[in-house]
Amino acid sequence: MIKFDTNLITAMTEWRRHIHTFPECGFEVDQTADFIAEKLTSWGIEVVRGIGQVGLVGILKNGDGKASVGLRADMDALQIKEQNTFDHCSRHHGKMHACGHDGHSAMLLGAASYLAQHRSFNGTVYFIFQPDEEHGCGAQAMINDGLFERFDIDAVYGLHNLPGLPAGHFLIRPGSLMASESSFQIRIQGIGGHAAMPHTGVDPIVVGSQVILGLQTIVSRSLNAIRDTAVVSATEFITNGTVNVIPSEVVIKGDCRCFTEDTLARIEKRMEQIVAGICQAAGASYEFEFINTFYPTINSEYETGLAVVAATQALGAEQVNANCEPFTISEDFSSMLRVKPGAYGLLGNGVESKGGCALHNPKYDFNDDILKYGAGYWVTLAGNVLE
Ligand SMILES: [Zn+2]
Ligand SMILES: [Zn+2]
Repeated sequence: MIKFDTNLITAMTEWRRHIHTFPECGFEVDQTADFIAEKLTSWGIEVVRGIGQVGLVGILKNGDGKASVGLRADMDALQIKEQNTFDHCSRHHGKMHACGHDGHSAMLLGAASYLAQHRSFNGTVYFIFQPDEEHGCGAQAMINDGLFERFDIDAVYGLHNLPGLPAGHFLIRPGSLMASESSFQIRIQGIGGHAAMPHTGVDPIVVGSQVILGLQTIVSRSLNAIRDTAVVSATEFITNGTVNVIPSEVVIKGDCRCFTEDTLARIEKRMEQIVAGICQAAGASYEFEFINTFYPTINSEYETGLAVVAATQALGAEQVNANCEPFTISEDFSSMLRVKPGAYGLLGNGVESKGGCALHNPKYDFNDDILKYGAGYWVTLAGNVLE
């Protein structure tokens, strides 16, 4: 177990609260990136900025080891009006660190500071700070900007706090840990007309209703009941009709979640087949749009094993669940895991009044007590991977 100097624990708390006080969203995290870059540079860590617009990478080499590891934190906040009243509450109106990315950045800074001083590894550690996790674009933007070509990163690791799990407990599993998130929009064009003479037109409400029932068969009849867990939900049904007018158009919108890219592809394909078949039978036309925002987060086996060993050493064996149930929430670290092996874990933020408030809630706050656990996990992992 890493014993952190109390000065470093105090400093991490200060950094965390500073970032919490000045939250920034999406790709507009310039002040946060400035703050992080300034800290890393002050410890002699080389910093490359402007990757994926405002993402940054800190590079710390030690010894002659050729191996490398990427440790990733996210920097962005949410468009939420904070309802807390403590001193470090948001001073940026309508923006708030309600997902704990302030804590993720502070934990990784703590680990960077420790590793820069103690050099307890042989190889290269890349500290990756990404923008825009919440909209699912930041990780991909950094990848598109050459993250894995410009930096020789063998494997990547990510960590997120989890309210409701006791402080310092750790959850992970090999394979699918978190779901994909996709949205769809189906526009059905019929022929509108007088509500008293439906036979003169093509009623898109009837067609759309059949489509919605057809979509229910994707999970129940097209996916493997044992292997392919998924959710397909139609959540909006919009028409341009009125009380005595059959509409000419219906728009159906909805949301899908699943745990593998195979399932994701199968859902999209079946969805369009169902829409096309029903519309053709009715004489309606359609437009179909399927937008994938988050891929499923899939941990590679070997790296998950390394994460479990590090978490066990840093947090204690009783605190670690190495085969937790998957979550239907999503995470854009998934984009990095599509390119590189790696593992994503969840760190307990605490229960009830101390860290138990749900993510994305206006009363949420990252629990400063777990900064040392997160930083301890990072330092241990880096030391183990780069022996
Ligand atoms: Zn979030
Ligand atoms: Zn988050």
